[in-house]
Amino acid sequence: MSETFVNYDGSITASPRQLVRPESVEEIQAVLRDPARYPGPVRAVGSYHSLTPCASSDGAMISTARLNRIVSIDPAAMTLTAQGGVQFIEASRALREQGLQFMTNIEIGNMTLGSAACCHTKDGLDGVEYGQVSSYVTRIKWVTPAGELAEASESDNPALLRMMRSSHGLCGVIYEATFRVKPIEAVHFTYHPRPVDELTQAEVDEYIDSSEGLVAWTVGRTVVFQQRHKIDKPGVLGSLQSALRRRLWNFGDAHVGHLVDELLRNQTLRDAVRGGVFDVTRFLYSTLHLFGGITLLAPDKTIDYRGTPASAKYAFTFWAFPRGRWLEALRAYLDFADEHHKQTGFRCNMPCGAYRVHKDTHGILSYTHDQETFSIDPIHASTNDADWHRFLRAFNDFAHQRGGIPLLNQSPFVERKHMEAAYGDRWFEFSDWVRKSDPAGRMLNEFFAGLLSERKADPARVSG
Ligand SMILES: Cc1cc2nc3c(=O)[nH]c(=O)nc-3n(C[C@H](O)[C@H](O)[C@H](O)COP(=O)(O)OP(=O)(O)OC[C@H]3O[C@@H](n4cnc5c(N)ncnc54)[C@H](O)[C@@H]3O)c2cc1C
Repeated sequence: MSETFVNYDGSITASPRQLVRPESVEEIQAVLRDPARYPGPVRAVGSYHSLTPCASSDGAMISTARLNRIVSIDPAAMTLTAQGGVQFIEASRALREQGLQFMTNIEIGNMTLGSAACCHTKDGLDGVEYGQVSSYVTRIKWVTPAGELAEASESDNPALLRMMRSSHGLCGVIYEATFRVKPIEAVHFTYHPRPVDELTQAEVDEYIDSSEGLVAWTVGRTVVFQQRHKIDKPGVLGSLQSALRRRLWNFGDAHVGHLVDELLRNQTLRDAVRGGVFDVTRFLYSTLHLFGGITLLAPDKTIDYRGTPASAKYAFTFWAFPRGRWLEALRAYLDFADEHHKQTGFRCNMPCGAYRVHKDTHGILSYTHDQETFSIDPIHASTNDADWHRFLRAFNDFAHQRGGIPLLNQSPFVERKHMEAAYGDRWFEFSDWVRKSDPAGRMLNEFFAGLLSERKADPARVSG
């Protein structure tokens, strides 16, 4: 009998015929080697916090939940090695006990390290050197689609490691990964609100160039630039400030957005109250600006969403834009969102995020492979998925037309034409590699089958 597997916000449901929770590498091999008992597609699944059906299968799903052991922390080599099912927040706690932290302390604490090693996970604030978590993976061990053991590292087959960092579970199940780490850092965040209609490209460049790490929050037509600055010590208020910040993000914004949409069915009233909520949010950011910002230890950025009630859950989409085109794209996005609201009555009920991420060629599908990017991430606590999903599809058209770059696990309803336009030749190269690595399509689910591309035969060669 099939079990149901549901993603974080309940928008994606999978009913695999076999859902297995292996505790050893041999058990993973046994699944991949036995198509009669474990029908394809075989998909690895971590915490299923993805926003696309990338991990879904109606054949077999391998949950990594029981592969949850930290193998070693090596303070001399500055690395952490863990099994694929360890959650980021657990690994972060273990590192902290030794005065260490990940290179990039992302918000999402419940992502598993197997997924982190091979997906598009990123952070703007802590992306001092690179923003993508997989860029700091120095070694990956996995079980291939045929059930064999494989391994690649920076010293032994770096070219294969570059492919695996983008593999999204298409070329094997990662059972162990090693990440670079560093001594724990205290950071200070400053907040700079600016009316979007007054902003100039020169100002945006100044914010970007003067930031170690940068995200921006757009509330109504105000952009708040949040900059990261490394400091020596967090000060006495550090832990209180980080707890308050976690609580606000994990509960406050999404919960209020959800509540307003749930309770107020009259659109005029709902829009007015939502406008009031956005005024309060803007006031909070202005207060943070006046008081000089907040200070915390970098790992305190990471949030454990395990206890989040349904009413405080949110979802988002993410498309990146070359930094020089971001301001123009953001202004156009705000106009697009107004027009969409006029036509459908739908508007996102949370601030729109933006992550600055440095140029980075560590993975074949790095979305900043060719240039530094700044993103546009509409965020929403949904009470009506049909409305939210219609918005997401319209936003995809908007972002695609403006040269945006989508992510495979964080841009819902992504299509092949989006991937081809955004990743160009690298998408075709990746598609070829997936077919070569898994010729029988043992791990290829419907989602990825609809996305992978094939190079058209060269007509000159065929006729010649
Ligand atoms: C509330 C919330 C906040 C978020 N915040 C952020 C954020 O700050 N930054 C960010 O980048 N993302 C964020 N995300 C998105 C999320 O972090 C990523 O989608 C992440 O990859 C999810 O990890 P997971 O363990 O749940 O992977 P899953 O969703 O379970 O799987 C993701 C993909 O990885 C593959 N996979 C999983 N485990 C393995 C393995 N062991 N071997 C091979 N393949 C594997 C799956 O097949 C699938 O293709 C957020 C999501 C939510 C819901």
